[in-house]
Amino acid sequence: MPELPEVETVRKGLSKRLLDFQIENLEVCRERAIASPGGSKVFIKMMRGASIGEWHRRGKYLIAKLYRRLPSQTNKTTSRDSCDASAGYWGVHLRMTGQFQWIEEASNPCPHTRVRFWNKEGKELRFVDTRSFAEMWWVSPKEKIENIITGLKNLGPEPFSPEFNAKYLLKKLQGKKRSIKSALLDQSIVAGAGNIYSDECLFLSGINPKKESGLLTEVELQSICSNLIEVLRISIGKGGTTFSDFRDLEGINGNYGGQAWVYRRTKKSCRKCGAIIQREKLSGRSTHWCPECQA
Ligand SMILES: [Zn+2]
Repeated sequence: MPELPEVETVRKGLSKRLLDFQIENLEVCRERAIASPGGSKVFIKMMRGASIGEWHRRGKYLIAKLYRRLPSQTNKTTSRDSCDASAGYWGVHLRMTGQFQWIEEASNPCPHTRVRFWNKEGKELRFVDTRSFAEMWWVSPKEKIENIITGLKNLGPEPFSPEFNAKYLLKKLQGKKRSIKSALLDQSIVAGAGNIYSDECLFLSGINPKKESGLLTEVELQSICSNLIEVLRISIGKGGTTFSDFRDLEGINGNYGGQAWVYRRTKKSCRKCGAIIQREKLSGRSTHWCPECQA
């Protein structure tokens, strides 16, 4: 499942490829992919003719600003903000297996193709999703984004934001019996971290994933904050991870996986101490840790 570094990698690819991409035509191949009111009918109507502006990421959500080009004679300036009208927002959540593909030469879509977008030149942005859990939204410029993409309402702070710190975690986890691993997976506590990076972060912090989150000290929580930021930063630099079927826009998977400390290293020896890496399901997710380094 794509986590923050993978979604950030996709955001960078979309920003680069789609700068001023104008949607000449689009096709929704599977109704379920569109989660905004009015389904594919409204989505197609409102997205057709729109140009794609800046891409933002919030947690694992991708959001693009849409605009419509107005005839330039109506305004002497060339700035996009002043002479173009907002056409709302385009939201995307990749969930398990959603991925964008950039198609230069026309080709037949695979059976998992969900949505297709073309520009005037016939270049295609294709959205493929094997498991079919990914969602897209069109949000009217008059509407608050979180009223349509309701998952945004419950997101905790971004790991890179100043709000994500030991004091915040201490308050949030006070008296909580749940394991620290389960707390880190909770998007309402911190946005964007998932299974891979929470396992890696806990290894670097020397904290057992099963430890009760409410019992952690401020020093331990500080270590968790810094290490989570560190692993996310390293992985973003490497274009995400090779795990799962994640691919960026150009079909390339990242290479964080090769250097993981514990994730998917079950029964291998710990890179620090040589002990055997353990694996167990915790809150339904495979959790990896070193019994010595994370006693
Ligand atoms: Zn170890």
